[in-house]
Amino acid sequence: MENFLLRNIDNPKSADISEYEKAGGYKNMEKALSMDADNILGEVKTAGLRGRGGAGFPTGMKWTFAKADPKFPKYLMCNADEGEPGTFKDRPILEKNPHLLIEGMVISGYVLGAEYGHIYLRGEYPEAKDILNAAIKQAYDKKYLGDNIMGKGFKFELSVHQGAGAYICGEETALIESIEGKKGQPRNKPPFPVNVGAWGMPTIVNNVETLSNLPYIMEIGGEAYAKIGSAECPGPKLFSVSGFVQNPGVYELPMGTTLRDIIFKHAGGMRDGKKLKAVIPGGISTPVLPETGIDCAMDFVAMPKAGSMLGSGAVIVMDESVCMVKVTYRALKFFEHESCGKCVPCREGTDWLRKILGRIEGGDGRQGDVELLSDVAAMIAGKTFCPLGDGAAGVVAGMIKYFKSEFDEHINDGKCKFSA
Ligand code: SF4
Repeated sequence: MENFLLRNIDNPKSADISEYEKAGGYKNMEKALSMDADNILGEVKTAGLRGRGGAGFPTGMKWTFAKADPKFPKYLMCNADEGEPGTFKDRPILEKNPHLLIEGMVISGYVLGAEYGHIYLRGEYPEAKDILNAAIKQAYDKKYLGDNIMGKGFKFELSVHQGAGAYICGEETALIESIEGKKGQPRNKPPFPVNVGAWGMPTIVNNVETLSNLPYIMEIGGEAYAKIGSAECPGPKLFSVSGFVQNPGVYELPMGTTLRDIIFKHAGGMRDGKKLKAVIPGGISTPVLPETGIDCAMDFVAMPKAGSMLGSGAVIVMDESVCMVKVTYRALKFFEHESCGKCVPCREGTDWLRKILGRIEGGDGRQGDVELLSDVAAMIAGKTFCPLGDGAAGVVAGMIKYFKSEFDEHINDGKCKFSA
């Protein structure tokens, strides 16, 4: 499959508007602004585009809810807060192909009737902030943003809002709270942001990759797009591959490519002749799969059947030298640190999981600790305000399911055989 999302990123000037235009940039937006917005929405539904941030919700359906709400103004928020360990798939778009995102946001704003867009950018991406702001300025200068875009009578204003480094602000309602200037904590749902979002108005939050697919749908049409990759989750997908592979990086592949192909065909296989042990397929909040589980298709339907989730498509590859107790401990340190503290099961539960894992990893584990970990994880799962708690519980449950013997060995031997 020819790259679209990562098209031209090897060009050192790919972020410059003239290079983007030379490669056909903003032509799809011009085409879209000449069409009826409902017809574009129809193309998005035909394409079968699903949100690329992790949940995989059908984009066309989300947009239909927002369009049906008569309140005005409506806001379009781009979620560029990719802060989950292992996830760096949006970064090449933000830093190398920012005009693709801008073009996608204008098309989306036109369909939705939203005149104001904000890019909520991860606090740890300072280079992307400068690149995006420079690209937005270029787009204003060329009248691709602002009043009466390309003389088509549509207005769209766009700005960048940089977060302060909280992972939870990648959750759409916490993102909205943050952009309103409040503490970034998730809101109760319903009402959903498509009806009551930023400043109480209809707000659509879509991921960078989701919005960047819009120009492609305009370019090839919904029907052709729907033929790429998995039948139930079509289109191109960005996978960020990290860990013990020969060629870590971001790969644009058809949705539904198997984990085996991603690791061995595209990322060059395992490093230093070591054997594959396990894969976290979609970012640290998705349950681990053992080596025997890598023949599954990476999409929103097949991965849950295989016992994990597609998540953001962040593939973390571990070889035979990796201690799974240490990985679980590191993951829980992250979740405990990033828990926003709003609900008890997550606030207290992640703290307890981290403490128990810390003593096991440090050689002070007690008999019954593995069962205690499972109990605490079960008390978190399904009982928290937002998915962070479920993610933490799922990581622990998955690791114990496949690698319980390593936890038992740490407790019985009082040490880690991998760091001997
Ligand atoms: Fe905050 Fe965790 Fe509760 Fe989410 S699950 S609202 S991060 S305390």
